[in-house]
Amino acid sequence: MTIFEPIKSTACGCDGAPGAPALMPVCDAVSAALALAAPVTETEEVPLHAALGRCLAAPVLARANLPRFDNAAMDGYALRCADLPGGGDLPVIGSCAAGDAPVSLPPGTAMRIYTGAPIPRGADTVAMQENAVRNGDRVRFAVPPRAGSAIRKTGENRQLGEVMLSPGTRLEAHHLAICASAGAGTVTVRRRLRAALVVTGDELAPAGQELEDGAIWDANSPMLTAFCEQAGVSLVAATRFPDRREVLASALSALSGTVDLIVTSGGVSVGDRDHLGPALKDLGAKVAVCGVAIKPGKPVTVSRLGGSVILSLPGNPVAAFVTWQVLGRPLLDRLAGTDAGPVRRHVRASDLLRHKPGRCEYRPARIVGYDGAGMERIACADHVHSADLAALAQADGLILIPGDCEEVEAGDLLEFLPL
Ligand code: AMP
Ligand code: MG
Repeated sequence: MTIFEPIKSTACGCDGAPGAPALMPVCDAVSAALALAAPVTETEEVPLHAALGRCLAAPVLARANLPRFDNAAMDGYALRCADLPGGGDLPVIGSCAAGDAPVSLPPGTAMRIYTGAPIPRGADTVAMQENAVRNGDRVRFAVPPRAGSAIRKTGENRQLGEVMLSPGTRLEAHHLAICASAGAGTVTVRRRLRAALVVTGDELAPAGQELEDGAIWDANSPMLTAFCEQAGVSLVAATRFPDRREVLASALSALSGTVDLIVTSGGVSVGDRDHLGPALKDLGAKVAVCGVAIKPGKPVTVSRLGGSVILSLPGNPVAAFVTWQVLGRPLLDRLAGTDAGPVRRHVRASDLLRHKPGRCEYRPARIVGYDGAGMERIACADHVHSADLAALAQADGLILIPGDCEEVEAGDLLEFLPL
C-alpha cells in the first residue's frame, strides 16, 4: 500500500510563477473569502427524517449503553462454559430470539439462541450453531466453545452519555443511523442557509425559449440553483438582471441582509459592460477577493455587504463552475458551520499535459484507470475553453495544474478535486 502525505493546502504555485500577474493566489483567495464568512448561529431541533444534509450544532450523545444489554452475536446455543469442560452434550431447554425478554438458564442446560437475543441470566457463552450437533432435545459440540465467545457486551460500543457525533458534522445517511441507534430521535442543527442568485447578462434567455438575434441560453441559473439545492440551501430568489449598474446596485442592496449568501453571475470583469464591480463600489461593499490567479475564473470576486457574503462568479459557464468548486463550496461550508472541508486527493496524469505558466489551472478530468500501485489515472483535454461546457460532460473532477508548471508528464502526480 502506498501512503501519501495529506494535501494541506491548495498548492497552486501561482505566487512563485515567473511573470505571474498581480492576482491573488488561490489559497490566499480561499482564506480571505472564508475570513468574510461566519457560521450562522441560529439553531433548531429537527426530527431525523428532516435532518439529512443539515449541520449538527450540538453533540449527539448515547441515550443508553450500546448495546443496551448483553446479546448474542450469532445464532447458536447459550450455555455456561464450565458445564462443558472437555466437550460433551447438554439438554436444550428452550429458545430465545431478538425481542424476547431475558430469561434464566438453569445450570447444566443450554438454550437455543438467535442473533440479537438477550443472553439468558447465568449463561456466559454462545456456542455457534456451526459447531453444534443437535440430536433431539440435546446438543453436542464438536469443538468445545471458548468462554465468553459470541456475546456482544453491554456498553462495549459506547457507554451511556458518550459522544456519538460532534458539532460540525454534516449529517449523511449513516449519521442518521448512528443517531437513531443511540436513541436520538431529533437533532440540534444550524438553521438552513438562505441564498439568492443574481444573474446578469442582457444576452441571456431561459433554456427552452426561442432566441432573438444575439441571445444565448442561460446555463448558469440552473447550475447554480442545483448547487444550492445539493447543499441544502434555501434559494429565496433567482433572478436575471439587465447589465445596468444602478439596477444591480439596487438589487444587491435589497437582498443584502435578507440572505447569508448572494451568488452573482457575469459582469464581474473589468470591461465597460461589466457593472458588478462598480455596483459593489457604489454600495460600499467590503471586497476581500477581486481577481485570482486561477484559470478559468480570474475575475472572481468575494465581498460582504451588510449581513450577506457576495460571491461574484464570472459569466463564462466553465469559469463559473470552477470558481464555484474552488470558492463557493468552502464558503457554503463555512457559513453552514460544517468542518467538512474539500475532499482532494492525488491522481496520476496518463498523458503529457501542457500549460501556460502564470495562473494555476483547474481542468476538467476523467478517471480512466489505475496505475500499478492502484492510484487513479486521469485524462483531460489539452486545452479547455471557459465557455465550453461540453468539456464537463465526462468529467469526474478537476485537476490542479500549478501556476509555475509548464508541462505535466505522463505519470506525474496531480491534485484532484472530485465533483
Ligand atoms: P461576462 O462574465 O458577463 O463578461 O460573460 C462572459 C461570457 O459568458 C459571455 O460570452 C457571456 O455571454 C457568457 N455568459 C454570461 N452569463 C452566462 C450564463 N448565465 N449562461 C451562459 N453564458 C453566459
Ligand atoms: Mg455579461
